[in-house]
Amino acid sequence: MESLHWADQFAQNIIREKGKKKRYTIASGITPSGTVHIGNFREIITVELISRALKNAGKQVRFIYSWDDYDVFRKVPGNMPKKSMLKENLRKPIVDIPDPFETEKSYARHHEVDVETDVAKVGIFPEYIYQSNKYRKKDYNKEIDIALKNTKKIQDILNKYRKEPLNKDWLPLTGFCPECGKDEIKFFDYDNKDNVKMKCILCNKTIDVNIKTANFLKLPWRIDWPMRWNYEEVDFEPGGKDHSTTGGSFSTGKEIVELYGWMAPSYLMYNFISIKGTGGKIASSKGNVITLRDCLEVYDPEIVRYLFAGTRPSAEFAISFDLDVLKIYEDFDKCERIAFKKQEAKSDKEYRKQRRIYELSAVDKPAKNMPFQPSFRHLTTIIQIYDKNIKKILNYYKPKTKADIKRITSRTNCAINWLDKYAPEDIKFRLNEKISSNVKSSLKEKEKKALLILAAILKKKKFNEKDLFNEFYTISKNLNLEPKTFFKIAYKSLVNKEKGPKLAPFILEVGQEKVSKIFYQLKQ
Ligand SMILES: [Zn+2]
Repeated sequence: MESLHWADQFAQNIIREKGKKKRYTIASGITPSGTVHIGNFREIITVELISRALKNAGKQVRFIYSWDDYDVFRKVPGNMPKKSMLKENLRKPIVDIPDPFETEKSYARHHEVDVETDVAKVGIFPEYIYQSNKYRKKDYNKEIDIALKNTKKIQDILNKYRKEPLNKDWLPLTGFCPECGKDEIKFFDYDNKDNVKMKCILCNKTIDVNIKTANFLKLPWRIDWPMRWNYEEVDFEPGGKDHSTTGGSFSTGKEIVELYGWMAPSYLMYNFISIKGTGGKIASSKGNVITLRDCLEVYDPEIVRYLFAGTRPSAEFAISFDLDVLKIYEDFDKCERIAFKKQEAKSDKEYRKQRRIYELSAVDKPAKNMPFQPSFRHLTTIIQIYDKNIKKILNYYKPKTKADIKRITSRTNCAINWLDKYAPEDIKFRLNEKISSNVKSSLKEKEKKALLILAAILKKKKFNEKDLFNEFYTISKNLNLEPKTFFKIAYKSLVNKEKGPKLAPFILEVGQEKVSKIFYQLKQ
């Protein structure tokens, strides 16, 4: 039966376009010029999801990820420390910029390590290719030679989309001065064979360059990209909305790659990601850059995957950090229940769709049996009752398997981070050990009496949620107290606030005896 999932459909599209092959090469990449944000992550996970789809269709896959760390460092991002040091290093390749955080061997490596570490947590393991290595090892010198020999043709292709045509002496070549390491250089006097002259504007020096042996040359982006499609024999590579316009680097690349004797890869445009509900908390310290790491602080890895697997790449969507986090966990849990047929889907079509989204959300292999589902919403209350103590929280849930322990622990950590960083104030509370004297003195005699009656019956009888809820109304009615007032004074005594989690389940979770003891403090 044909899959309804976009990743499977696109995998079939690749097979159709590229013909039946044993192995397909699929690619993704980025310039590590600054913090790699969650929008950039969309590209990596899009390729990874298609990689899984191709494998499920019985194909071998080579998934390459290119770090374009031989690109020039053009601009110091707003969220970096040591700005003046970075500024002095502008116009050098990113791989040669010192790490302003001083933890890695270079600025490029710093961002690469961040991403390589985090994508592994969501089950993504591409083959990384470092472009600075490739160029400096002279792996591409033959390809640079081909570009130069096709200078006129490349000029014509690029000029089709330019307002101002390129200068007649323009060459498809760039690089870095071997003296000062920067790219403020000019190439001229190409002899149509192996030699060209290079002048560094900064050093004011001219040198003879042998195209076949120099290790400081590079192709400009619009030629570099299609050159690598040919070099790695790429069958599929997606591009962001910005690369996808007419005259953009994909459309010129499509023509340039033919000069190398290869065809442009199957292409997929992915849309932007927006961020919702960070409340400006991140904006001040990090230049409003949200990374995969930020998302993994509040979302389990499988839920991060679920967000992307469940949305077509062409659709724009928002990653939420506000109350919607609770709903996204609930949506995932529902998808999981449908996948295991513990909850009925609207139709067989819906079941198959949810089942496939669930499979693709798994970090490793999907679970064989339906995992335990600690509700994220409920966890936010439990965590606060047990003062963020993971031992007590595990003891509350009494998990039976290692997988259950892992899921509870992971969700607990996410919920703690969410409460600390993003949760609205009215969700947060802390259980009183002692009722404050302020609260005590603010209560009227009748109000104290109501809570003392509750204290007495909580000690005497074991309640369920519904009966306890009804009891609140009986007590209020007998004392001629507004139920609204009853709830308010109960919350004030328990959590020092006028509102809180739903009272009956909250009291049952804290424990009748413990709550009873707290209310008894009003006797005196
Ligand atoms: Zn120089």
